[in-house]
Amino acid sequence: MDDTIKAAVAGAASLIREGRRFIAFTGAGVSAESGVPTFRGPGGLWATIDPGVLEISRFHRDPVTCWEAIRELFYSPSRPRPSSAHRILASWEKRGILSFLVTQNIDGLHREAGTRHISEFHGSIEYLVCMSCGERTDAGPAALASGLLEILPPRCATCGGVLKPDFVFFGEGIPTAAYQAAFEAASGAGLCMIIGSTGLVYPAAEIPWTVKRAGGRIIEIDPGETEFTRSIADIHIGLGAVEALGLLDAALGPSLNASARP
Ligand SMILES: [Zn+2]
Repeated sequence: MDDTIKAAVAGAASLIREGRRFIAFTGAGVSAESGVPTFRGPGGLWATIDPGVLEISRFHRDPVTCWEAIRELFYSPSRPRPSSAHRILASWEKRGILSFLVTQNIDGLHREAGTRHISEFHGSIEYLVCMSCGERTDAGPAALASGLLEILPPRCATCGGVLKPDFVFFGEGIPTAAYQAAFEAASGAGLCMIIGSTGLVYPAAEIPWTVKRAGGRIIEIDPGETEFTRSIADIHIGLGAVEALGLLDAALGPSLNASARP
């Protein structure tokens, strides 16, 4: 490990030990090592798939075509699994170190790893929502195995309306509850750890800025430089999420928990 990384990890660990109210803000980079494909950039989904299948107006007009692409993209039988990065964040919540997590990801992997105090800012593939009555339907592995998506579009068991994945399509707003929970957590936080987010997608990217403006500190984990690196990051750990969180977890040690902190 080079000295820059070593110093960054040590600095991040001592910031966490200070015991400020600590939130995490995650983007695609936290799931990259779980094999979740990214949307943008070379090799991203938009290189091969027409982004129009996730436009809400098109979904209204032609749910079957949209659903055919969506099923292949997000609901294939070989679903990604949480990585050690997701599991370490969940363990920090359990130990009282991390108080809240905001994710831009729709893959549901933080929840699957055990994180409970969470805002899934752009929704999640784990549920479908009825376009007519608003009822939510579980779209977890068991529901899929029992044939939920065999006939497209899937229909609401209550009213027969068309079901849509409960994540944010192009042309839709952020779900109110997720939005409020995220900004409430950010405005009360003294420390925000950004993991694998480019900082280009708004309003999500406002969350770390909210912490910074209120005098909070920012740790960033990303192998490259992002919009946050030279603007608001106090500490930048230039590694992938799995490696960086592994080092940080080791630096914090097994005995750190909420009650042990000053
Ligand atoms: Zn319905």
